[in-house]
Amino acid sequence: MNFKSYNFKNKRALVRVDFNVPIDSNGFVTDSTRIKMVIPTIQKIINDGGSVVLMSHFGRPKDAPSSDFSLKQIIGSLESLLERKIIFCSDCIGDSSFKITKNLENGSIVLLENLRFYKQEKQGDKDFALKLSNHGDVYVNDAFGSAHRAHASTSVIANYFPNDKTFGFLIENEILSVDKVLNSNSHPLTAIVGGAKVSSKITIISKLLDKVDHLIIGGGMAYTFIKAQNGSIGKSLVEDQYLDLALEILQEAKEKGVQIHLPSDSLCCKEFSNDLPIEIRPINKIPEDEMGLDIGPDSISAFKDVIVNSSLILWNGPMGVFEMSNFQNGTASIAHSIVKATENNAFSLIGGGDSVAAINLFKLANKVSHVSTGGGAMLEYLEGKQLPGIEAINN
Ligand code: AMP
Repeated sequence: MNFKSYNFKNKRALVRVDFNVPIDSNGFVTDSTRIKMVIPTIQKIINDGGSVVLMSHFGRPKDAPSSDFSLKQIIGSLESLLERKIIFCSDCIGDSSFKITKNLENGSIVLLENLRFYKQEKQGDKDFALKLSNHGDVYVNDAFGSAHRAHASTSVIANYFPNDKTFGFLIENEILSVDKVLNSNSHPLTAIVGGAKVSSKITIISKLLDKVDHLIIGGGMAYTFIKAQNGSIGKSLVEDQYLDLALEILQEAKEKGVQIHLPSDSLCCKEFSNDLPIEIRPINKIPEDEMGLDIGPDSISAFKDVIVNSSLILWNGPMGVFEMSNFQNGTASIAHSIVKATENNAFSLIGGGDSVAAINLFKLANKVSHVSTGGGAMLEYLEGKQLPGIEAINN
């Protein structure tokens, strides 16, 4: 079944979305990207003459209702983006919610309360999935951010719609974009990996070595590679248990003809602070009492040369502690280089929580080819894993 060509007239579409968006202490949505990105899916169903029942998880509640984790908090944001009223059901499988969805008028949009108020959601419970399935005639999965989870609403539920299940526009687009990077023959292909830890990116780095021409490594994880090569990194972030593995990665890259680009200089500071003097140091000559918190100007310039000459670019993880203004420049410069490459017709895919946060912070999200809404899901898909949410629709 193809979402675009399916006619939703007189159908109730039960749409799994990922409304797990950040909110501030007053309950206001601070980044509505994930909501914005499912609007076209909702509009298509409504324009066809159908109705929509939206379901999502939100945060990590302890298997019981709590106002802090209520999806009620996102209604304002959803209504203003859709320019329509939303009907809210305060219990996703309560009798009252079925009363509402049973005779839903075409054009109506319902939002069910947080699925994770029931522990059965994460357990992938069949009875819970069956109950949820009664809210719709057609199942649409548009929650890429949750596609790597085998939960009741993301995969098990698809069994109850053997002939009426499909992806929405968001997932279709995500898959197309990642497939483009995985299957394209365009070169050079450059992956930029950053962030805090080598340990959390090991699998993806190993996988990427089979694909890429250039691998740029920045952020906190770079210091483990520098120390492994006997550099002095002072008090910088390091994972001593990964030193050998870092050397193995460098060796494997050499054997596979992948050019690894590590930073040559660092912005260093005596403490993890935005208020102390900064020194630019060669990354392998950092004094004992300093730590590297961003890449330096020489690294920025070298990385830029690689990026602007690439045809395909994948970026996951910041180059420094971009949350602090003093250490933002490295990540911002990389983002600008990616934009420049994109303007020169490169295809650029940004994925993974913090690089998405960074590209949004610099207001450059609409200047790259694709910003993924699913950090973990995108990485697992890139690693070649089967995602339960994708499998459930395809099978
Ligand atoms: P990750 O979730 O692994 O992608 O890591 C993202 C985090 O890495 C961000 O919060 C950054 O502040 C942090 N980070 C990046 N570079 C450094 C660094 N040089 N030292 C410490 N933390 C860093």
